[in-house]
Amino acid sequence: MSELKRFVVLALALALLMTAPALAEGLTVEGAALPAPEELLPQGGDASMPEAVETIAPDDGDTVPSVVLKLVEEKLPLTGVKIGIDPGHQAHGNNEKETVAPGSNEKKAKVTSGTSGAATGIAEYVTNLEISLKLRDALVSQGAEVYMTRETHDVDISNQERAKLMNGYGVDLVLRIHCDGAENKSKHGIALYCSRSNAIAEESYRAAEAILPVLCETTGAQNNGIVSNDNYTGQNWSEVPCLMVECGFLSNADEDRLLNDEDYQWKLAAGLTNGIIAYIQQRDGVQGNE
Ligand SMILES: [Zn+2]
Repeated sequence: MSELKRFVVLALALALLMTAPALAEGLTVEGAALPAPEELLPQGGDASMPEAVETIAPDDGDTVPSVVLKLVEEKLPLTGVKIGIDPGHQAHGNNEKETVAPGSNEKKAKVTSGTSGAATGIAEYVTNLEISLKLRDALVSQGAEVYMTRETHDVDISNQERAKLMNGYGVDLVLRIHCDGAENKSKHGIALYCSRSNAIAEESYRAAEAILPVLCETTGAQNNGIVSNDNYTGQNWSEVPCLMVECGFLSNADEDRLLNDEDYQWKLAAGLTNGIIAYIQQRDGVQGNE
């Protein structure tokens, strides 16, 4: 190598050594002492570039792009779905009368306090609310927007008023949570009730068909089928698809104990939630293909 070449290479090397740390630290080259080569390497990771790390990592949700947030939200199967829950009965019935259906002259008590457990003695309105609150939480965990007619026992809301509340919310589906009672103490199992003649009868039946098998499979309860009639104020006054869920027989000692068991109540909540997911997917699938 000639003297000239050796000089040029050395000059370039010196220039690189002096400008590299200057660029990294924002200092001017002028007057800076020549650093030893090892000083050019990052010193101990984090300490060398704390600001860069902070800038890259988002500190809160606001910095996550809305497209990403949208994807996360849409992963839940019940996002954008409104579900109404009406925990049947209340602590004290109200024997004043109200019409059983729009335009009907037939009247029934506004709301009763329901039946009670043959073995546990627990009132139906208590069991209904316990199941309903678990159902609410299960539905919310799947992205649903949930509306409740009551979250305490000490209310006075008639069956007609409950239906009108849900009509006002414009929910996709109402579940009226009840437990059954019968003279025959061996009767057990789950049945779904819907209206037969009003505008929501057909869609309510479709919802029942999707939900009942899933509910019975999840709980292991006997499937007592779907009943369509115009006997119930709550379904008759509904303008949105509406089902009464008879979760089991409190008149049956074994089923009474199950219905008042936390784990079984969660099974009911899970079965209803999965059934609702099945119904909504079926409903939206049918609409999408038309
Ligand atoms: Zn009831």
